[in-house]
Amino acid sequence: MEFRDSTAEVEFRNEVRGFLEAEYPPAMSEGRTEWGLFNASGMRGREYYDFLGGWTKKLNGRGWGAPAWPKEHGGGGLSVKEQFILSEEFAWKRAPRPGGIGHGWAGPTIMVAGTEEQKERYLPRIISGEDQWCQLFSEPGAGSDLASLQTRAIRDGDDYVVNGQKIWTSGAHRSDMGILIARTDADAPKHRGISYFLVDMKTPGISVRPLVNMLSSHEFNEVYFEDVRIPADALLGEENRGWYLAATTLDFERSGIATSVAHQLIVRDLVAWAKESVESQLVANPGLRTELAERAIEAQVEALISYRIISMQERGEIPNKESSIAKLYSSELDVRLAVTGMHLSGMFGQLENREDPRGLGGRLARFYLHSTTSPIGGGTSEIQRNIIATRGLGLPRA
Ligand SMILES: Cc1cc2nc3c(=O)[nH]c(=O)nc-3n(C[C@H](O)[C@H](O)[C@H](O)COP(=O)(O)OP(=O)(O)OC[C@H]3O[C@@H](n4cnc5c(N)ncnc54)[C@H](O)[C@@H]3O)c2cc1C
Repeated sequence: MEFRDSTAEVEFRNEVRGFLEAEYPPAMSEGRTEWGLFNASGMRGREYYDFLGGWTKKLNGRGWGAPAWPKEHGGGGLSVKEQFILSEEFAWKRAPRPGGIGHGWAGPTIMVAGTEEQKERYLPRIISGEDQWCQLFSEPGAGSDLASLQTRAIRDGDDYVVNGQKIWTSGAHRSDMGILIARTDADAPKHRGISYFLVDMKTPGISVRPLVNMLSSHEFNEVYFEDVRIPADALLGEENRGWYLAATTLDFERSGIATSVAHQLIVRDLVAWAKESVESQLVANPGLRTELAERAIEAQVEALISYRIISMQERGEIPNKESSIAKLYSSELDVRLAVTGMHLSGMFGQLENREDPRGLGGRLARFYLHSTTSPIGGGTSEIQRNIIATRGLGLPRA
């Protein structure tokens, strides 16, 4: 891997930096920051979504709203390295980028498996931000072992009739559309009887019930399907081939560099706070210097793992066990970093008040609580280790 940018890449990086300098208010990247990737701006509620609408338009004007998507579908058609540079520069500024299930999953899957009519109907609305999407995969009895899902979709004339329950559906309460996997053949081996649907969340019979997490935040939901009739043209790809669509990693933007930068920024914030705060435990516990240094090094290691993924993608290879290594390392670093922050801040780390600098404006408390979800969402750490063991080390399956 060539770590240095080529001349053209330097130019592109400068273009991105120039755009962010001109368009992204410094007060937002420095003053009101929140830790973690989602909405790092620190804006909340309506204010954030209003900002995001205008911001998305500005990014789309340059093809940066969906940089990995081909130009024919309204994306930027950027090279792998350009996408990487864009992610990196945006992350350093803590500037939000349109993303989520629509951009990362639904759109790319529709591009690969959709009919022309499906592409025309859904892709422009993802790019414009008109449609928000959610992912209706996990069920109470099917998370890691997703292929055991029980939600049924039975063909009835021109419709499928769906019954069942999904769980942990992030953002379902503000989504217009959902990607749904459901069982269409109960007699087939479990991976071969699943189909993939594009579902309008306003369809009668769908009810969304909030699940409030321990941050008192409503992020995910239970979603119930009771005799929900969805049209047959909501099927994506072939009937009973949905598992293979769901299992394909289509999101090529996920190099992990943005998370690595976010971690480096958290280390930087912690160090700055430790230097200037009488509440810091650094003097009382000099070993914390080593602990902070370890986290700083780990955030750099995480960046190198991202470079490995990006160099594979540049060669046209599809990362497999490498993605599991990146996911495992990054989500466990989230937890270690939050714990180090707590060691450093002592009892003050528990303060949630956004105005109280002694608890880093509550960022640490929120980050600590939220970090517990990282080794679970998107595939648990145990599952990543299983993948590394079998595909990476060649060990037999248990
Ligand atoms: C913040 C967050 C957001 C989420 N958003 C969504 C969403 O939008 N849409 C969606 O569909 N889902 C979503 N999920 C669900 C997520 O995909 C599941 O929680 C995850 O796949 C784990 O499944 P589970 O919760 O059923 O746990 P289980 O699979 O029941 O696992 C329980 C424990 O057993 C371990 N385990 C299970 N199988 C094995 C094995 N074979 N070997 C070793 N250990 C094993 C697991 O690692 C875990 O520790 C979200 C989860 C979180 C935390």
